[in-house]
Amino acid sequence: MTVEEFILAVKNAGINLTKQQIQQFEQYFDMLVATNEHVNLTAITEKKDVYLKHFYDSLTVAFYEKELATTEKTLIDIGTGAGFPSLPLKIVLPQLKITMVDSLQKRINFLQEVVTNLGLSGVEIIHGRAEDIGQDRKYREAFDYATARAVARTSVLAEYTLPFVKVGGKFIVMKGAAAQQELADGKKALAILGGVLRDEFEFSLPNGDARDIQIVDKNKKTPKQYPRQAGTPSKKPIG
Ligand code: SAM
Repeated sequence: MTVEEFILAVKNAGINLTKQQIQQFEQYFDMLVATNEHVNLTAITEKKDVYLKHFYDSLTVAFYEKELATTEKTLIDIGTGAGFPSLPLKIVLPQLKITMVDSLQKRINFLQEVVTNLGLSGVEIIHGRAEDIGQDRKYREAFDYATARAVARTSVLAEYTLPFVKVGGKFIVMKGAAAQQELADGKKALAILGGVLRDEFEFSLPNGDARDIQIVDKNKKTPKQYPRQAGTPSKKPIG
């Protein structure tokens, strides 16, 4: 997807990018590729692939969860890596407050540089593991939204994300072709952690890749024992 195709596809989804936002995506791309020379950030480096598989794919969250665009919502992105999906979302929805979490310090350093260079405000960047931060009272059940892309299967991811979501908030699950199976395997975890599936959107990226966004409502508090100790959710998923 060229930059022009990206702008048009985003417009067709209802978002008109300003010159400044287009410039911010260009700057982000330049920094991603330059830093990737010496820090492992992504295997995707061709410009047309970054625009499709990182930038556009991240924005599909805003295409399907329209309420994200309403005033001052807070979103936590677990295992954000080089900033996906939360940084592209922040660029197009400047009023959204984002918190990015990753356990790798080098990626956190990169994110700090991008946020400074792009002049973004309303961004918090935290180095650590979801299992530890999810037990911190400052962050627990404090967000309107939690999301994550390419971090773990749904049964594990639910334990990384739902502890951060306020009752009445949402966990946005971003998946590919395995979404249905992962959801079936994760049903018990979602229920125990206070989540219930509200909506599901199956679609394709412009290149035909299958995508599935599931919106999980948080309808009751997460029991205190979750998330369990770092490493336990992936070793012994609930269910
Ligand atoms: N979300 C990004 C994306 O879609 O490009 C990055 C995906 S990358 C495959 C997974 C990221 O999750 C890595 O940067 C890793 O450091 C981070 N990660 C994995 N387990 C984590 C945990 N328990 N807590 C915080 N970060 C974690």
